[in-house]
Formats: sequence, structure tokens, C-alpha cells
Amino acid sequence: PSALREVFVEVPDTTWEDVGGLADTKERLRETIQWPLEYPEVFEELDMQAAKGVLMYGPPGTGKTLLAKAVANESESNFISIKGPELLNKYVGESEKGVREVFSKARENAPTIVFFDEIDSIATERGKNSGDSGVGERVVSQLLTELDGLESLEDVVVIATTNRPDLIDSALLRPGRLDRHVHVPVPDETARRRIFEVHTRNKPLADDVDLDALARKTEGYVGADIEAVAREASMNASREFIGSVTREEVGESVGNVRVTMEHFEDALS
Ligand code: ATP
Repeated sequence: PSALREVFVEVPDTTWEDVGGLADTKERLRETIQWPLEYPEVFEELDMQAAKGVLMYGPPGTGKTLLAKAVANESESNFISIKGPELLNKYVGESEKGVREVFSKARENAPTIVFFDEIDSIATERGKNSGDSGVGERVVSQLLTELDGLESLEDVVVIATTNRPDLIDSALLRPGRLDRHVHVPVPDETARRRIFEVHTRNKPLADDVDLDALARKTEGYVGADIEAVAREASMNASREFIGSVTREEVGESVGNVRVTMEHFEDALS
């Protein structure tokens, strides 16, 4: 058996517009990943090396996966997504084989962005990963081999994510490997407002819904929390609506359904 049941290759449909806030982060990713793929002549002329690997770090739910998909979409690249823990396979040799398969699929389908989510689950500093019988180390060493073997012309870029950059095996972060580091911060008020816009843009909002106020009230919330608030607010609206009409009335009344500020307030509490 292979370590991975199947390696899925896709062009994601996520765009920059789906990512609220994070203007600086988007710009970094555009320059680091999109430009070399889009303007190889410029990099050639200026004798600049295209990045092979980017480490995105930041707390959970801040949009790292979303950003990686958007950068793949915007640079018209294929996308292969692997969760770190998926690579850990207890059969000796299978995990390394998994890594090799990922990179060979990536080359076949280039331009490709290879996304390693939760890389810290495998690539922790030697010895810190207790009880994994060395499989983490073997996967890391295979990853290093693949990264070192990538030519910048091959149009394969690795994006790895972690919530704990301090735990990452420093060998992975050396020049020519995951040497570009992009911070994905907890959103500030302005960014939260943008994220609320993203997650309410297709919802019928009542006039009293004040996204600025919601952004103010959600200090410390990350994108995933805001998405959950918007979902819960809609759920509140649906509950109220469905409770107020008969099944026969739904069709003609559904156009009047609105998500109100109260629905949001209840979702927050
Ligand atoms: P983890 O570290 O837990 O994997 P992550 O940083 O990769 O988290 P995502 O998976 O990208 O976070 O985000 C989870 C969900 O939260 C997304 O599908 C999206 O709906 C929402 N979300 C997070 N950040 C943003 C954002 N900046 N703009 C819009 N939606 C966001």
C-alpha cells in the first residue's frame, strides 16, 4: 500500500477575493510564488532565484489553506494538498514513498503548488517528536532530498504551514528549501470587517446589520471563527423563518428572509 491512497491534483477555485484582509500576506505570496511563474523572464534577467519553498506560519483558522489555494488559482497552477499526519505511515519505507509520489505527481502536472499542511506534525526538530519511531525524520530527509532536487525551472513550489514555526527542523528552513517565511496574523478590526464581508456577501442581510460593529465586537476572532458566526447567524434566521410560515408559504415568502443584527448578536453570545 502507498502511504497516500491517492494524490489529488486540482486547480482550486478560491480567489484572492475569498480571502478577507491579509493584504501584506497576499502581496508577499504574489511576489514570491505568482511572479516567478508569471514573469520568468524578469527573474532570469535580474538573476533572481524563484522560491522553491514557503513556510506560512500563524495561528489556526487564520486562512493559510485559503491563501495557498488562492495563490494556486491566481497563478493557474495545479494544487496538491497533503496533511502532515497523512504522511506518517507505520510501515517502514512507505512514508518516504508517499513523499516521492507527491513530488513526481507535482512535476508531471507542473506548474504545481504542493501544500503541506501542519508540517510540524512530521518535521519537528530531531528528538522533540517522541514516540514516532523515527518516521518523522525519514519523511523530513526525503522532503529535503526532493526540495534539493527541484530545479527552479521546474515550476514546482512547496508551501508548508505550521502554527509552531519554532518546532520546525531547522534543516528544512535553510536557503534553497523553505527559506521564505510568510506570517499569517490574527486579523485586526479592519481585516475582520473584510472577512465579515466575504462571508456575508451572498446572504440577504437586513438593513440593520452593521459589519463595522461586528468587527469591533470580535476582537481575537480568526477567519474560521467569523465564518462560524456568519453560519450561525444564518441558522438563526432560518429557524425563525421556518417557524413562522407553513410549508406551503415557504416558496412565496423565502424572498423576504433576512439575517438581522439580532441574529448575529445571538450567534456571538
Ligand atoms: P489551520 O491552521 O487550522 O489549518 P488555516 O490557517 O489553514 O487553519 P483555513 O483552513 O484557511 O485556516 O481557514 C478555515 C476557514 O476559515 C476557511 O475555509 C475560511 O472559510 C475561513 N477563513 C479563515 N481565514 C479567512 C480569511 N482571511 N478570509 C476569509 N475567510 C477566512
